[in-house]
Amino acid sequence: MITTELSNVGNIIQNQREFFKSGKTKDVTFRIEQLKNLKQAIIEHEESIVEALQADLHKPEVETYLTEIGVIKEIDYAIKHLKNWTKSKKAPVSFDFFSYSARIYPEPLGVVLIIGPWNYPFQLIISPLVGAIAAGNCAIIKPSEIASHTSDVIAKIIAKHFDPAYIAVVEGGVEASQKLLAEKFDHIFFTGGTAVGKIVMAAAAKYLTPVTLELGGKSPCIVDTDINLEHTVRRIIWGKFINAGQTCIAPDYLLVNKTIKKDLIDGLEKCVKEFYGDNPANSPDYARIISQKHFERLVNFLKDGEVIIGGETQPSERYIAPTVVNNVSLEDSVMQEEIFGPILPIIEYTDIAEAIALINSRPKPLALYLFSQNKNLQNQVLQETSSGGVCINDTVMQVGVSSLPFGGVGDSGIGNYHGKASFDTFSHNKSVLQNSFWLDLKWRYAPYQGKLPLIKKLLG
Ligand code: NAD
Repeated sequence: MITTELSNVGNIIQNQREFFKSGKTKDVTFRIEQLKNLKQAIIEHEESIVEALQADLHKPEVETYLTEIGVIKEIDYAIKHLKNWTKSKKAPVSFDFFSYSARIYPEPLGVVLIIGPWNYPFQLIISPLVGAIAAGNCAIIKPSEIASHTSDVIAKIIAKHFDPAYIAVVEGGVEASQKLLAEKFDHIFFTGGTAVGKIVMAAAAKYLTPVTLELGGKSPCIVDTDINLEHTVRRIIWGKFINAGQTCIAPDYLLVNKTIKKDLIDGLEKCVKEFYGDNPANSPDYARIISQKHFERLVNFLKDGEVIIGGETQPSERYIAPTVVNNVSLEDSVMQEEIFGPILPIIEYTDIAEAIALINSRPKPLALYLFSQNKNLQNQVLQETSSGGVCINDTVMQVGVSSLPFGGVGDSGIGNYHGKASFDTFSHNKSVLQNSFWLDLKWRYAPYQGKLPLIKKLLG
């Protein structure tokens, strides 16, 4: 394990400030080289990444490629578009500014801090790092100590391929995080829970540091009657049970039209068997809960409602079967906090207005899913609810589209990233207005006497 002495944090930041000042990161060619370097480093260490995720989460290799190493797609996207993103852009000016020209210049922020969670512990560190590099910043990254094997691999890869005065890793838990948060950064990008998000924002406020907070919450999934049932159940089961439900945008609970509920439950049961066999504990394609603490928290939820699919647990393995729970009440603990595990409660509705009212009575979610081909219903749900993002007739896939900014709203987060949005998050848009000397109209200069009618006309 590569450990950075916490007492050394101040030095790392100082060195990065010097590096940034040298102007190296402003060079677009340098940034592209570094993105290529990052891609190469990931490819070189694919095997260790797969092993680390297997050790931390029992993550199946296919899922590691899809959801962790797949971050390479983000790197390729940034490399492809970076020259265009970094160009200054002309801004239009109104008629009364006819002797001026206006442009917007994106510029890097400086030294940024990226703090990651344990559930997609590789991707959720590397993806924001792509934005930080693309935008021309130096970065300190703090992976989650709870996914300790992945944290070690990230530290090794970065130490081997990058100058710590440019990109550095600080490993550790709350203490390391707090030590870092006591320092001044030019941006803090945090992915994690809402409670810690508040701590991060409070620390950032001390220096007026801008933050991006990628948080969680309870993402609802509405199932209407106008669907292809077979496709719907597959997409729900995949999105809910990938990484054993430990996905920030997993469908947290289902809101199901009463008339289709029985068919849906039958379909879900069949699909769990199809994906993971009669005993998912033996499936190589099903992950485990990250820690004993989270395992116990989830087992407690099983007391709520009536388990109709799954429900089996194996504490020594931190295994919880893909589970569906019926007849839960909104007051049950499973409906009070983000589940973040393989437990799927079902709530029925008779009218879509009930489902919408329930969603709107709760904090704004990170994702909202709707299964329906009915255009009017789609429009109604889009118009009458607010969420970080929406995916219609599928789950989780929205995260893989680089042209869609990804982030929360309200309690589910502040700011967004992916693709161009990552570049924007780690850039400052500097507005530059330029006048010329060929003309100097005097309407704005003192003495003001007699100029008001013209000013009023200009304003009108
Ligand atoms: P967490 O908030 O417990 O930890 C995140 C990071 O914060 C870790 O690196 C941890 O070391 C650090 N941390 C923990 N306590 C701290 C403290 N008191 N002071 C400073 N730093 C501290 O989150 P987690 O358990 O790792 O992840 C689960 C949460 O993250 C869920 O709520 C999930 O929805 C959310 N999440 C959101 C996204 C997203 O993209 N929006 C993605 C993944 C996870």
